Amino acid sequence: MQTWIPIPENSDFTIHNLPFGIFSMEGETPGAGVAIGDQILDLYAVADLEHLDIPGVDKSVFNHSSLNPFIRLGKRTTSAVRLKVQQLLSDEHSPLRSRPEVFIPQSSVTMHLPVEIGDYTDFYSSIEHATNVGMMFRDPANALLPNWRHLPVGYHGRSSSIVISGTPVRRPSGQVKPKEADQPVFQPSARLDFELETAFIIGRNTELGQSVSTAEAEDYIFGMVLFNDWSARDLQQWEYVPLGPFLGKNFASSISPWVVTLDALEPFRTEGPVQEPAVLPYLQYTGKKNYDIHLEVGLQPAAGDETVICRSNFKYMYWNMCQQLAHHTVNGCNIRIGDLMASGTISGKDPGSYGSMLELSWSGTKPIQLKDGSTRTFLQDGDTVRMRGWAEQGGVRVGFGAVEGRIVG
Ligand code: CA
Repeated sequence: MQTWIPIPENSDFTIHNLPFGIFSMEGETPGAGVAIGDQILDLYAVADLEHLDIPGVDKSVFNHSSLNPFIRLGKRTTSAVRLKVQQLLSDEHSPLRSRPEVFIPQSSVTMHLPVEIGDYTDFYSSIEHATNVGMMFRDPANALLPNWRHLPVGYHGRSSSIVISGTPVRRPSGQVKPKEADQPVFQPSARLDFELETAFIIGRNTELGQSVSTAEAEDYIFGMVLFNDWSARDLQQWEYVPLGPFLGKNFASSISPWVVTLDALEPFRTEGPVQEPAVLPYLQYTGKKNYDIHLEVGLQPAAGDETVICRSNFKYMYWNMCQQLAHHTVNGCNIRIGDLMASGTISGKDPGSYGSMLELSWSGTKPIQLKDGSTRTFLQDGDTVRMRGWAEQGGVRVGFGAVEGRIVG
């Protein structure tokens, strides 16, 4: 499939992708758009010209500060809108060819959180990450806790501090207990870290008491974003027993602005790792539920070039999104449009694929070398962390763009 829009080489936003986001131009209210190349197609403007003639779609859903009203139309409708946009951008005789005003350069807009996030859940679904953290925080001989291979471990996070890519992240202060000390002290975190994750956005409500099976789960997932779950390891290590993450995690998490639909990711399905021992029936699934999505993390010092310090892949995940959602709802917990469910840090087997500085520097014992000659064990003020994700196969590329954030003291 070809588009008549010029697409820069290696663009994440090809005619095969068409992710949805919320943007605003200076002095105007936010609205919905689709990324194509280095431009945005203004969906409200296209609908206003009556070129999005999909039954059940009122143009007002695009004139909104979140995608929630659009997502609420249901997947059949949102998929039809995406296909209509694909047709409009590929048809040689498209009516949009004479309407340059519906295209806006991405460089000229402000991006906003794409959805109004209700509840946020973070999983812990990479076996390599869970093993590495277990070795460092607990016991190298028994790194994985007994439940880990039986259920996708997760916790309820906090949506109020989820921010859009580009938002500066303030170094948190909190209680830390140095190993040699008897008492905790209050100080700025000295072990500030990122976590390389993806997240999926819920596209359909359930009723309290209803469960979503692994077979139904994809009907409830609108799309995916990149997710950086900023983490203060020294706060986390002192506070996490027995109820899990709290202030070491909830000071900020960053997401990428463009929601890539499962429709766009369809060609990149792949097998997940073999699960051993076999999981309980409600967690069993059929078909390919993992996705081959390349992930990388760049670290850029305040005055220097970016160094890529991690290359990982979403396909490494032990627990897939369908299992996560089935587990989340198996007790009848209801989900709502806009809820965000993050994967957990995505590490692979190779040390270069570890998805956090905790693992890359092995708890601060192996400094990470940067291009400018400096080293890091954890993040310094002024550092920018930039995560990218893309799938590519047979000349078809579908990417997420980036999620980035700079640490400020
Ligand atoms: Ca996390």
